[in-house]
Amino acid sequence: MPAEHATALVLRCVDFSESSLVVTLFTREFGKIEALAKGAKRLKNPFDSALDLMSLCRIVFLRKSSEALDLVTEAKLLRRFRCPGWDLAPLYAGYYVVELLRDLTARYDPLPELFDLADSALQGLSLGEPVWRWVFRWELGALRLLGHLPSWESCVICGKPIQGSLRVAFRAVEGGVVCQPCQKAHPAPAPTLMVDQGLLRSMAVLAEPAHPAADRLEMDPVHRTQLRHLLDLVIGTLLGRQPRMHPYLPGLMQEPQRRKTPAPSPERHLPVAPAGPPPAASGPKPPEDEKPSS
Ligand SMILES: [Zn+2]
Repeated sequence: MPAEHATALVLRCVDFSESSLVVTLFTREFGKIEALAKGAKRLKNPFDSALDLMSLCRIVFLRKSSEALDLVTEAKLLRRFRCPGWDLAPLYAGYYVVELLRDLTARYDPLPELFDLADSALQGLSLGEPVWRWVFRWELGALRLLGHLPSWESCVICGKPIQGSLRVAFRAVEGGVVCQPCQKAHPAPAPTLMVDQGLLRSMAVLAEPAHPAADRLEMDPVHRTQLRHLLDLVIGTLLGRQPRMHPYLPGLMQEPQRRKTPAPSPERHLPVAPAGPPPAASGPKPPEDEKPSS
């Protein structure tokens, strides 16, 4: 069996035995793989401490048949996710990026553009770029690349372009906006959201990873809240449940000074990828299996 070489993002590390891990990786060349990393928990191992959640690495692996786990034999760290300061929001946003990447993709379905978008999002978050913007760019870009982007230019029922109204009805189950006549003629059994036309224009920019305005687009808090509700509906409908990082998302939409995260004391040391104290006293803990492996 020939050894495969790939560039990979680490999506999950789960203990397998005293010394080994089962890792879920998203590779640029092969898509998502699940593999055994034998001896990864030993002090001396061939993985260069690269198999940590959200790390970017080069790997060598042996591809196994059908449902069996692949075998990672080497890993070299290219970049570790680092939280840019005391604020934990970029870290939680990073957890969300890898959660969606894991849950929205199938094994061995290579999507290099999706890999590049996730990689850019993790890099942007660790550089301290606005968290809300990267969360929206990631969600909308991923929906576009996976063919699940909602329709926002024409009515999903009659197909006519949406014109002339400031607020538009949006139905996640039906996959997009609904014009006023269709809204009256076909009452919705599922929740309908009223969104501003201006928000739909911002969504078009954020959904296009290479759009020249995407990395400097500004959005007021009202539109951020509307878009959060809209994407919660779309992604919840797509997954059939809410993502596990869902309870944190509203907090990530605010500027750092408006978040409710308690300010850390200066002497508190933040590890490279902390096990994750909750951002608010009442908030849930991040999923257990998404802690770094170290
Ligand atoms: Zn219509």
